[in-house]
Amino acid sequence: MATVQLNAHTVVTGFGSSHVETLRGKDAVTQRMPSFEARRFMGGKTLQWSVKRGESKVGLRSENRGVKAYTKPASAVTPQVATGPKSLEAAKEPPMHLFKNKEPFIGTIKSVERIVGPKAPGETCHIVIDHEGNVPYWEGQSYGIIPPGENPKKPGQPNSVRLYSIASTRYGDDFDGRTASFCVRRAVYWDPETGKEDPAKKGICSNFLCDSKPGDKVQIVGPSGKVLLLPEEDPSATHIMVATGTGIAPYRGYLRRMFMEDTEFKFNGLAWLFMGVANTDSLLYHDEFNTYLKEYPDNFRYDIALSREQKNSRGGKLYVQDKMEEYSEELFDKLDKGAHIYFCGLRGMMPGIQDMLKRVAESRGESWETKLAALKKNKQWHVEVY
Ligand code: FAD
Repeated sequence: MATVQLNAHTVVTGFGSSHVETLRGKDAVTQRMPSFEARRFMGGKTLQWSVKRGESKVGLRSENRGVKAYTKPASAVTPQVATGPKSLEAAKEPPMHLFKNKEPFIGTIKSVERIVGPKAPGETCHIVIDHEGNVPYWEGQSYGIIPPGENPKKPGQPNSVRLYSIASTRYGDDFDGRTASFCVRRAVYWDPETGKEDPAKKGICSNFLCDSKPGDKVQIVGPSGKVLLLPEEDPSATHIMVATGTGIAPYRGYLRRMFMEDTEFKFNGLAWLFMGVANTDSLLYHDEFNTYLKEYPDNFRYDIALSREQKNSRGGKLYVQDKMEEYSEELFDKLDKGAHIYFCGLRGMMPGIQDMLKRVAESRGESWETKLAALKKNKQWHVEVY
């Protein structure tokens, strides 16, 4: 992997501006991302800027060429060595349930940013929460959030906990081990009679988070979850990541750990991301991922399915399983060789994916049931859907 040594006072930074800024009081940083490009949608305007350092190795894979997402969080363009406490790297077991429902940690909202374009159905926000280093977590874990207010179903009692996958690495987007990021989609409800959104009924916690402002307090429990922990024993392993919508959250953490941070985990395997969303404007962290494609073409693959813009080979909407099916021989081959496969997103994604995998297995003269049992037994199969 390419590395570029920046001097003690240089870090690429800024959002809505393209400049190189002084980083005070920090040692020299090693960063592994020589060039960056960003686009951002702000108040009806698309703002584009770029900062380039060093050489870019290759262009985008033809699959995604021409697909331009509108947004990306500022954090994506400030890579540096992780400065968080050493204990974050040294622990043998992931932190679990450090804060419980009866005594949550009170964190502070650091930023809330809409990260989808105007034509995306619904709104998704990137939210950074300051936990002051008190609620450490590992990539792939979740926090629970207790939204303020009374539980509408149990008067007099507080609202119940909602889980959110953490979209940052253990060091957070600021690399100091003090924050956790979420990728939250506002939950809205549709009136079955009118077929329109019901403004009176909104998801409590997702709307609380997306409406929150820097400085607002937030009740955190956790961390929790072991299903999507990134197995790091073999740095040359293959990781096939399948996401729909906000299911991208844990993979953003994985990929930042693999490609953006300089930590003890020296990844030199293959990370292959399949991302399914409705349309181009709904793509999440697309520029961040395209940067990895340019910089680490041997270690990262990125394939997207835009259900409302692309068609599958049968003329229907192109879903994430259709995109996977295009590479089914390669995928099965990699699974046979020990690749890990992860699924994260809405629960409804799994039946279509399972049907496709079964169909492919049968076309190869294999039993999907036997294969799936073996993948589970070997701990290669990781599913977290909600
Ligand atoms: P609401 O409609 O207020 O609540 C939605 C759900 O919360 C209900 O279906 C119910 O299950 C539960 N609930 C609501 N009220 C009660 C009650 N009184 N008692 C008990 N349960 C109740 N969403 C994201 O946007 N991004 C993520 O990264 C993400 N990660 C997740 C990870 C995991 C492991 C899980 C399980 C879920 C994840 N979710 C994620 C979904 C998230 O937890 C919420 O369900 C979603 O945001 C909607 O919550 P809401 O409060 O806005 O909606």
